[in-house]
Amino acid sequence: MQTQIACPRCQTRFAADVHQLIDAQRTPQLKQMLLSGGLNVANCPKCGTSTQLAAPMLYHDADHQLLMVYVPMELNLPIKEQEKLVGEMTQAIVKEIPPAQFKGYLLQPQTIITMKTFMEKVFATEGITPEMLERQSNQLKLLEQLSVAKDGTAMRQLVQENEKLVDEYFFSLLGSVLQNLMQSQQGENQLVALSNLQAMLYMETEIGRQMERRQTVMRQLQKEAKAQGGLTVELFAKYLIENAADEGTTITLLQAGQAGINYELMAQVSNALEAAEAQKDAPQVAALTKLRDLLMDLYTQMQQQAQLALQQSQQILSDILKAPNTAQAVQERLEELDEGFMYHLAGQIKHAENKEETVLLAALRQIHALIMREAEKQLPPELQLINQLLHAGDESLQRQIVASMPPEARPRLAEIIETMAAEMVGNGDPAMIEQLERLQDLFE
Ligand SMILES: [Zn+2]
Repeated sequence: MQTQIACPRCQTRFAADVHQLIDAQRTPQLKQMLLSGGLNVANCPKCGTSTQLAAPMLYHDADHQLLMVYVPMELNLPIKEQEKLVGEMTQAIVKEIPPAQFKGYLLQPQTIITMKTFMEKVFATEGITPEMLERQSNQLKLLEQLSVAKDGTAMRQLVQENEKLVDEYFFSLLGSVLQNLMQSQQGENQLVALSNLQAMLYMETEIGRQMERRQTVMRQLQKEAKAQGGLTVELFAKYLIENAADEGTTITLLQAGQAGINYELMAQVSNALEAAEAQKDAPQVAALTKLRDLLMDLYTQMQQQAQLALQQSQQILSDILKAPNTAQAVQERLEELDEGFMYHLAGQIKHAENKEETVLLAALRQIHALIMREAEKQLPPELQLINQLLHAGDESLQRQIVASMPPEARPRLAEIIETMAAEMVGNGDPAMIEQLERLQDLFE
């Protein structure tokens, strides 16, 4: 629905979108907008001022048996009108619910008259408590105060008075403010002041020092992995064992090296644990026991997920093979075809090759080709070109492709290839990195 509003600042009249029915399961995108503070917010086309529209809203969340109607106080509705409005809005959502799913709470919608309470109830369905919301809003306030602090001394004092508010979330808030300032190329003084603040927080707060340590460890690991031509189990185990006592670092390491969690890694950690036990190094024994248990849990979870993914891939492949129209079947299930499926498909192709099952092999190869063609269509044009280059095989063909590009497009493509190659160093396929590096020569 649209409504006419007047900008509170410049009085320009314009039409704005209003959403009044928000259903957590049926319209999750509206719920997301609500949570991020963007729902029923109108931006003036002339001066850019944003206004929160005082519109009644119904919120329904079947999973949490929550049905409530927000009737803004500003509307000043007499009780009778208010009841009528709540009844009508409830009716609009209730009539969509099949009788079999009807539950008692649907007969008793709550009427909420402040946005604050309304939002608290919505956030509660996400496990976010009013205390957490208050903390976040205090963190924002602190950041605002720091942005306008008159000098380093004033900043330092504010930080000392509010040290409890400085956590990882605060660092990420500060990081995004800095990024915005850099992009807007305005407020250079503020940029310098807040950069100094960030540096100070890294040095002078406990959480800052922890984060700094974690980043240093990650940088060292990347450097060593790059020097070795990739991350090895030995190297990964060494870093995990050395940092076992630091939980934050352990988690960051495991997130970055998830693919490296395997049986061999666990064996290395177990050996280190035995060695620590032999030396009666109690703190290290405790830390490594915790690490070993964590790895076991992760490993079991990954195995289960892999098993499930394999079953799904098998099912999808057999469905496609059975379908009367292969191209259509591929098209229809495109969104389900992930890396795991492609891995499974490649394995089946190998298997059919070995067994010389020519009919099956042809069918599998056709599926593979169809998927590759579809996948390529989804890519941005630059990546399509890079793919063409990678598959061109010989260099003269590659040179032809580059020569056929408009000259002004070449530097950008060269840059993308360089970035891709650089990003892959340390965790990508070495053969791929070499190919990308060779492509770079084409642009020189
Ligand atoms: Zn305006």
